[in-house]
Amino acid sequence: MPEISRPYRILVARFCHESHRLNPRLTHEELFVVERGHDILRSPAGVLKGLTEALVAAGARIEPVFSANGGAGGLVDHDFYVRMREELLDEVRRIKPDAIGLDLHGAMGTTETPDAEGDLLQALRHVVGPNVPIGIGLDLHGHITPRMLDNTDICIACKENPHSDFVECGHKVAELLIKQLEGRLKPVTVSAWVPMILPGAGETASGPLAEIHAKAREYAALHPSIKDISIYNVFRFTDDNEIGQVITILSDGPDADAPSVAVDLATHFWVERERFKDDLLTVDEVFALVDSSPDKRPFAIGDMGDRTAAGAPGDGTILLSAALDDYPGLRGAVPITDPVAAARAVEAGVGATVTLSVGAGFTPGFMPRLITGRVEHVSDGNFILKGPVGGGDLCAMGPTAVLKVDDRIHVLVTTKPADTIDPAAFTSQNVVIEDLDFIVVKSGFHFVLNFAGLATPVLVNTPGVGYYRKNQFEYQKARFWPEHDISTPAITARQHSVGPLHKYVASALK
Ligand SMILES: [Zn+2]
Repeated sequence: MPEISRPYRILVARFCHESHRLNPRLTHEELFVVERGHDILRSPAGVLKGLTEALVAAGARIEPVFSANGGAGGLVDHDFYVRMREELLDEVRRIKPDAIGLDLHGAMGTTETPDAEGDLLQALRHVVGPNVPIGIGLDLHGHITPRMLDNTDICIACKENPHSDFVECGHKVAELLIKQLEGRLKPVTVSAWVPMILPGAGETASGPLAEIHAKAREYAALHPSIKDISIYNVFRFTDDNEIGQVITILSDGPDADAPSVAVDLATHFWVERERFKDDLLTVDEVFALVDSSPDKRPFAIGDMGDRTAAGAPGDGTILLSAALDDYPGLRGAVPITDPVAAARAVEAGVGATVTLSVGAGFTPGFMPRLITGRVEHVSDGNFILKGPVGGGDLCAMGPTAVLKVDDRIHVLVTTKPADTIDPAAFTSQNVVIEDLDFIVVKSGFHFVLNFAGLATPVLVNTPGVGYYRKNQFEYQKARFWPEHDISTPAITARQHSVGPLHKYVASALK
């Protein structure tokens, strides 16, 4: 971190949501965890944690506004979004910071706009003008729009999926912001876009994504003026123009090679597109595996179709029914989002035996399941994630009850979607994972890191809105491979820059 010549006042905030437009349960204020003022600095998580700790270490003064984290879910209620946006803008007008650092997801959509971050950043730029640096750190599953890039000085993503490096991403945003304030960085961003999604193979440590990231690191090492290359794998459940893979390159002043580097990396996606596939087991295959592999138990079964980590409601019962009906010897735990059933079980209280219909309250086509079980545990559903992904974040499941069915299957009935990427979702409800043969998690990637050493990860192909399948969803605006017939795209680079730098770039390119 560079030394600073004066204690800059840097406004920070977090406003994160990954918005699935086909989850019919809209994300209203009560599904967000919101803190304000200095409370957000007590135990920050993610990009906000990295951002604030690096700014403090550099000697900057933090001006905290709010942290609003909604995880993933249905589209955000637009009125709530607007209230938060206006609150942020009012604080910016009052505080008049030297710079702004934000922790955003990058794929927040509201009931009125699929590009909430673009709207937010454009509004911020309008208030502060071109001379106050704006730096943001994003999830690499962001839907990156020209509006976002045109209104930020520094826009970078985490580099790992599972996302174990949000804190490092925050450190980097802080470092670049300070350098810019000190006049030691003139950030210029170039982007290249390719109209495709990744139907699978989304992990960055292996397969084609690992190769693209390695190539990006090689390019950066060869070009000292390149300070960041971010590789965005768009969130697939957004419907907007220009849905696709995006490469952004941030350099100190215009880098003559950055446009061709961006185009080359984006082209790599297109050339390798057929390799982005998942290898998922069927429901029968996964339970047969659990049944026949006692030495590998407990298994953590990633319910791909009903991933709350990708914005699905978490109300699927297919794995619960398979375990109850077809595998009487297995002990396990299954989370189900069902506010009505949760309220009834909580009201009945610990020790009561209840018969409830659970699940299928939100996802079209899902079947509810009738269960009879003993209420083992009730709580407010709050827990703190502990693992490398999301560690420190508060997850609020709302009133939650654990029912034990057939004396072997624990059903976590939650009011809000549970963030089961982390063992703490279960242990906080007195479920002892080591005593079980399997647990179901509503996650496809992040749980693998957080359950490392505790459970064997396996992914299962289940129905639901949490997994992309060609022709399953209707897209009004987006056009991308493999959903649509896309001929080989002409991939070009765009230059983004703000304020006086725009003039600087334009003259440099003449
Ligand atoms: Zn992500």
